[in-house]
Parts: sequence; C-alpha cells; structure tokens
Amino acid sequence: MLHAFEHAATPGSPLDSGTRFKEGHMLATWNHGLVSNAEGWRLMQQGGTALDAVVEGTALVESDPNGASVGLGGRPDRSGKVTLDACVMGPDGNAGGVCFMEDIEHPVKVARAVMEETPHVLLAGEGAREFAISRGFKTTNLLTEDSRKAWEDWKQSAEYKPIINVENHDTIGMIAQDLEGNLAGACTTSGLAFKLRGRVGDSPIIGAGLFVDNEFGACTATGLGEAVMRTVGSFLVVELIRQGQTPQEACEEAVRRIASAMPTDDLQVGYLAMDTRGNAGAFAIHPGFNYVRTIAGSATLVDGTALR
Ligand code: ASP
Repeated sequence: MLHAFEHAATPGSPLDSGTRFKEGHMLATWNHGLVSNAEGWRLMQQGGTALDAVVEGTALVESDPNGASVGLGGRPDRSGKVTLDACVMGPDGNAGGVCFMEDIEHPVKVARAVMEETPHVLLAGEGAREFAISRGFKTTNLLTEDSRKAWEDWKQSAEYKPIINVENHDTIGMIAQDLEGNLAGACTTSGLAFKLRGRVGDSPIIGAGLFVDNEFGACTATGLGEAVMRTVGSFLVVELIRQGQTPQEACEEAVRRIASAMPTDDLQVGYLAMDTRGNAGAFAIHPGFNYVRTIAGSATLVDGTALR
C-alpha cells in the first residue's frame, strides 16, 4: 500500500540520513513514480536488486496506455509513429539503451538485454526492434486511440514547437539504492510529442538522461532533452557529487548551467539525484517538476524546487 505523507521527505530534511537507508532508497520522476516505486520497493524487499527495481518499476509505467509520454500510448512523432527511447545503468558501470525503436512496449527491458547480452551500449531503430524480437519481445501497436486523436488534432496546425513544460513531458527516470547498498537507474520515454522523425532525446543516452556511479551517486533527467544532452547533465550532477557536493547542490548547479547557456524562458529541465549516503536532490528550471521518494516503504510525492 502506498502512503503519501503531508510532510514530505524533502531534500535536506531530517529524513536525509547521512548514512544509507538500510531498507533501500528510491526516487522517480513525476507522479507515475508512485507506481514504479511501489513495484520496485516490493521487489527489493524480496531480494531484488536496484537494477531489478528500476527496470520492473518503470516497465509498469510503460504499460499504462494513459501515460502520454512513455511506452504504450506515448505520443507519436509528426509522421504518426510512436518511437521509444530508454536506457539502464547498473552498479558495475555497465549500461544499455535503445532509441528510435518502434512496436515494442518495453524499451527499458530491451535496454537491459542490450546491457546484459551484448557487448554494446546503444541499439537504434530497426536494429533495436529486430534485437528485441530476437530476444522474445512481442510486437505491439503502441499508437492508442487517444494518441492517434491527439496527433490528428496536432496536424490541424502542425506547429513544430519543441517546448517542454507542463503538457509535453513526463519521461520516467528512476534511480534506486538496494539493501546491499548498490545503485542502478533506468530512464524511458516516447520523447517529445510530434517530434521530427528520427529525433532522439537525452533519455537513452548514458550521461545525459541517466548516470550511475556506484561509489558516489546516481542522477536522471527530464525535460527538453536537447538541453540535457548539450550539457551532459546527469553525468555532470554525479560528477559534482563525486567532487563533494550534495545531490541538491549538484542538481542546482547543473540547472544553472543550462539556464546560463540557454537563457530562454520556455525551456524546462528537471534533475533528480541521490548519493550513496541517503541524501536526495531535485531541481528544475521552472516550478511544476515533482517526483516520488520512497524510504522505509513509504512513498512521498514531492514538489521539486526551481530556479525561476
Ligand atoms: N527528456 C525527454 C526527451 O527530451 C522528454 C521528457 O522528459 O519528457 O525526449
């Protein structure tokens, strides 16, 4: 059962432990993190690893047809095709991803297979799809009726406006520390709604949408992928943690770098990070970025702080 506390375990609060949470620690972007974290927590308490938790947790969100920006029901590109991006990274520094992949409901599980069963990090497009099928994944029509209607409506104006703030985002990025103290992360998305065909964002790119350093911390990103990619955002956050910053300070600095490099008002990016000692951080350019933090089996939906 999920518990949402009124008094959130906000970063920097007394619930930040300074020593790791022995039962695990889990963060996920946006309110669909309630679903992912519940599943991830359940698995970890039964002996699952942080990697099991983030993959199976985010896979549940991929299956929700009502989520307009992840997996099944994700908004299509401007040609009406749903193309998915995802990656995972484990405690041993290994990583896997898929991008521009069609017809497969669980890119995050395919990303895990790329990591565990190939010598590669990233497979794209038809090659990723063929790899998935060769590993037993079934093909599915990912364009739901709602998504098709949204695309038909969009075509009336066909305005190409790659702006992400309230409507046009919701990648799920999830990072976790398991009972052994190991870290892992996953990030999965359909990317920008009505994007140019072939566009790939930050979410499947290790160092941009996700980065894990088992000795120091983990970070995931959401928002306009181009801004995250240009600043190698998640790597930057983890590197700053490695250099001694708290996850909160590191997220703030990474956001400030984007804001000064790209000083436009309509750009949204949010970072979510943890270190290995039970501290969490979250920061966005604009308000509206929320995330779910799970400690001791209790999930809390927290409003992240923002620069503007
Ligand atoms: N970061 C994702 C992308 O640019 C979108 C999102 O977070 O909603 O593809």
